[in-house]
Amino acid sequence: MNAKTDIYGIIGNPIDRSFSPTLHTKMFKKYRINAVYVPFKSDNIKDAIIGLKGLSIKGVNITLPYKEKAFFFIDHADEDAQILKSVNTIKNVDGKLYGYNTDFKGFMEALRNNFNYKGKNITLIGAGGAARGVIYALYKLGIKKINIMNRTISKAENLQREFSDLIKINVYELNAKEIVGDSDMIINATSVGLKNSNMPIDIKNVEKSDIVDIIYPDTELIKQAKFKGLRTMNGIEMLVNQAFYSFKIWTGVEFDRKAALDIVKDFYI
Ligand code: NAP
Repeated sequence: MNAKTDIYGIIGNPIDRSFSPTLHTKMFKKYRINAVYVPFKSDNIKDAIIGLKGLSIKGVNITLPYKEKAFFFIDHADEDAQILKSVNTIKNVDGKLYGYNTDFKGFMEALRNNFNYKGKNITLIGAGGAARGVIYALYKLGIKKINIMNRTISKAENLQREFSDLIKINVYELNAKEIVGDSDMIINATSVGLKNSNMPIDIKNVEKSDIVDIIYPDTELIKQAKFKGLRTMNGIEMLVNQAFYSFKIWTGVEFDRKAALDIVKDFYI
C-alpha cells in the first residue's frame, strides 16, 4: 500500500460474514492492481454514501440491508438498476456515483450455464430483495410466466403488480402442494436454511423438479434434493458472478472465475 492506493469496500450491517473483502483483495493482488477492499459497517447509508465522495473512495458493494436505500443516494443508475430500484455496486467517477445491480446478472448467468429452463414451469419461493433480482433475471432470460410462493402473500402480490409489464406472475401460499408437485424448477430466494436446517417447502411434495437455492453453502433443501436424485444448484456461482461483474465495472479486468470459486469455497470451510 502507498499514497496511490485506491480504496474499495463493502457497506452493510452486519458485515462480518462477508466474503467480499477476502475475494476482492486477492484479485487485486493477482492482477497487480494497487487497491484495497475493506468492510464498512454502517448504521447510516446516506452518510456512508456521501462519504464516498468526500473520501474519493473508488467503489463499493452494497449489501444487506441497504441495496434498495442506496439506490436513492446515487447520481446515476444503469437501466437494470433503475428497473430493480436496487444497487449492489457503486463506482465513483470524479465525484459522481454510478450504480449497478450485478446480483441479478450473477444469477442469470449461473442459471443459463447450468440448466435448460426454456418452457419449464418455474416456481420461485420468496418475495424479498433477492427474489426481485431473480424475477428480473428470469424475465431477461425470456421466461414469460412464473409462480411465486411466499410466507407473506401480500409481498408476492406487490411483486406481481410491479413486474406485470415484464412477466406474468401467479401467486400461491408457501408450500402449496399442487404447485410444488407440478413444478419443473423450484428456486429458493428466501433466507430459510441460511442459519439452520429448516426448509421453505416440504421436499416430500417435490416430484420431478430441479432445485435451485441462491444460498451458499448447501442448504438442507439442496442436500435433500441431491439425496432424492434431483438436479440442483446452490448460490456459489451467483456469488462469484456478481463479484466478477463488480470487479469488471471498477477495474475493467475480468477475473478468473475458477480461481474465485476456490477462494469462496476456502472462505466458507
Ligand atoms: P429479504 O429481503 O430479507 O427477504 C427474505 C425472504 O425470506 C422473504 O421472502 C421472507 O418472507 C422469507 N423468509 C424469511 N424467513 C422466513 C421463514 N421463517 N419462513 C418463510 N419465509 C421466510 O432477504 P433477501 O435480500 O431477499 O435475501 C434472501 C436470501 O438470498 C439470503 O439468504 C441471502 O443470503 C441470499 N442471497 C444470495 C446471493 C448470492 O449471491 N448467492 C445474493 C443475494 C442474496 P416474508 O416476505 O414473509 O418475510
